[in-house]
Amino acid sequence: MYDLIIIGAGPAGITASVYAARKRLNFMVITKDIGGQTAWSGDIENYTGYQFITGPELTVKFEEHMRRYNVQMREDEEIIKLQKMGSSVWLKTAKGEECEAKTAIIASGKTSRELNVPGEKEFKNRGLTYCATCDAPLFAGKEVAVIGGGNSGLDAALQLMKIAKHIYLINITPSLTGDPIMQEKVSESELVTVMNYTKVTSVFGDKFVTGVRVKREEKDEMLKVQGIFVEIGLVPNSKFVEGVEKNEWGEIKVNPYNETNVLGIFAAGDVTDVPEKQIVIAAGEGSKAALGVFKYLNHLR
Ligand SMILES: Cc1cc2nc3c(=O)[nH]c(=O)nc-3n(C[C@H](O)[C@H](O)[C@H](O)COP(=O)(O)OP(=O)(O)OC[C@H]3O[C@@H](n4cnc5c(N)ncnc54)[C@H](O)[C@@H]3O)c2cc1C
Repeated sequence: MYDLIIIGAGPAGITASVYAARKRLNFMVITKDIGGQTAWSGDIENYTGYQFITGPELTVKFEEHMRRYNVQMREDEEIIKLQKMGSSVWLKTAKGEECEAKTAIIASGKTSRELNVPGEKEFKNRGLTYCATCDAPLFAGKEVAVIGGGNSGLDAALQLMKIAKHIYLINITPSLTGDPIMQEKVSESELVTVMNYTKVTSVFGDKFVTGVRVKREEKDEMLKVQGIFVEIGLVPNSKFVEGVEKNEWGEIKVNPYNETNVLGIFAAGDVTDVPEKQIVIAAGEGSKAALGVFKYLNHLR
């Protein structure tokens, strides 16, 4: 039986795997992808040691570091159930495989929140996307809408400013809420129209997106765009975790040692209730969780 299974290979899971490898634990990483949100982040200017690096570049660095330790990993796999069973942790994958380990670190992070308006599902990947870093280059010279005025929305607008013809930044709150430095850059651009107090009511098109309907201060408006970037925040990937305490937003509750309320189940990074969701924080939390697992296993022995 494995000492440890790590779920996720974002900054938290990858860092946990480096620490687990250095402690010579018998472990495996199971993950849907490598890099997590970092892979679709734009410009990163706050990860210590790099004054500037893009998300995809940092992901390559993370992966190289992990691979150096010959970490056993199953990629393109999704855990659909995790629970404590007897003295071990039991997991099931979407392919129906089951596995067991003495401990688990849940580092499954967050994914994009959906708009839940008519047309969203129909036009997903047909002009409507949740990833500016992945898809912005497809919209060169096009008119686009970015939905969301927080850090994700501003990050998307900043990336699109280098590519798109015009950007409508649709924001439901009275003013933008992202980092002031990003707000300044976006607000100063002639390419961006900021629409505060504005709510998306539907997405429309034929084969591909041709526009978005919005409600601004009770008035309906129609914007002709060929691309829509939904950037309205994230939800924790914690639905598959059973019997573990979560907060009202679904984040897994952890103590300063990354222990959950269930013995042997640890969690780290954005999926937890730690304040602030950042790469440097997720990486630090991943290392703490792996060291916590090491101590726990020593105690068991
Ligand atoms: C657009 C954008 C820009 C950002 N810019 C910055 C920035 O400039 N600086 C900064 O510090 N932070 C930034 N962040 C935040 C930062 O990316 C996150 O805080 C960080 O990636 C969290 O790391 P994590 O490992 O906890 O989770 P994630 O990065 O979300 O990784 C989760 C991992 O778990 C896997 N996974 C999820 N569910 C399952 C499952 N059921 N089974 C198996 N695997 C699963 C995923 O595939 C992924 O590999 C940005 C985020 C976004 C979205």
